[in-house]
Amino acid sequence: MNTASRPGSPAGLRDANRRRVLDAVRSAGAPTQAEIAVTTGLAPATVSNIVRDLGATGVLVAGDEVRAGRRVRAVRLVRGAGLVAGIDFGHRHVRVALADVADPTAAAGHPAPPQRAELRADLADGHGVADGLDTAAGLLDEALGRAGIDRAALRGAVVGLPAPLDLATGAVGASGVLPGWVGVPLAGRVSEHLGVPSSVDNDATLGTLAEQRWGALRGIDDGIFLKLSDGVGAGLVLGGALYRGPDGTAGEIGHVVVDPGDRFAAVCRCGHRGCLETVVSTRTVTAMLAPLLGAPPTVAEVVARARDGYAPASRILADTGHHVGVALAGLCTVLTPRRIVVGGELAQAGDLLLAPLHAALAAAALPGTTRTAEVVVAELAEHAPVLGALALALDRCAA
Ligand SMILES: [Zn+2]
Repeated sequence: MNTASRPGSPAGLRDANRRRVLDAVRSAGAPTQAEIAVTTGLAPATVSNIVRDLGATGVLVAGDEVRAGRRVRAVRLVRGAGLVAGIDFGHRHVRVALADVADPTAAAGHPAPPQRAELRADLADGHGVADGLDTAAGLLDEALGRAGIDRAALRGAVVGLPAPLDLATGAVGASGVLPGWVGVPLAGRVSEHLGVPSSVDNDATLGTLAEQRWGALRGIDDGIFLKLSDGVGAGLVLGGALYRGPDGTAGEIGHVVVDPGDRFAAVCRCGHRGCLETVVSTRTVTAMLAPLLGAPPTVAEVVARARDGYAPASRILADTGHHVGVALAGLCTVLTPRRIVVGGELAQAGDLLLAPLHAALAAAALPGTTRTAEVVVAELAEHAPVLGALALALDRCAA
């Protein structure tokens, strides 16, 4: 579980088929193998092999039942098969969520994410890996304790980080917002620290997965999820599948240059000047109001002031939406997405941000390509990355 199998590879196909079978059982409750074959489109022999394999891992059980006078072999999730954890690290916070492997509401397309315990803690600015993992492990134990569940029931965890990640090694890239984590082969460290198989992933990618499964990207084959927080990133759904790129780092829209200016454009932590993130991160947005207010406000305060008619706050949110729209326009012209989902801390600004974003998009993208692209706020709000981590952990519990 330390590394993700590549989509399209034999292992990737096997994992995808297992996920489809698991999802079919979650949705239907106790389907027969023939019903699973119909739902998933897989050959009956493939379904039979997967049910046997998942039976061996203790996730599924097949048993004979009589239905309408006929003996059938029904497949069910095993109650007490264990739990998985999703963990989401931000620049100054960590969230931990738990879900039961046998929870039927974890099926893709369910109108709400699985029932869960979720806890959050603040982290110091510039915290290191050891501090972060200690805090996450403490939250995990607290969540398990509150649910009255033994740590031994934990089957695996997925950790999200606001940084590009090398999916092969699980190492944290340098242009993320966690300077204390750069270069650390994190997947191994997390597995050691938590004592369960673990993997790491980018938080915007995980947010996309959660919105695709249980939120605003449900049923959307071509869409973009945008995370606007301290870090700015995106996830892409193309042709119905999450697109990660060849090395897993696709979607780094925060490093698209929107201010091609000269030496006056801000230097980004990636080394370029004028990246989108230098113009629209929450840190930049709040810092711009600090001289007027005497101290940097929170994002919630900026939004509240804008709603109260405080013109500088409205202007800053409008400019932020405009810059994001300009950066998205190129992507929209090339990819023609049907829906753009705005998440992250800045999404709480709602139309104050989305209206100028959409106007800039319409003005800069090829006419026609944006006509059908809706711009909406993320349904899962700030929970999207931790729920995406949970979704991936639920998928992988059977791998
Ligand atoms: Zn950059």
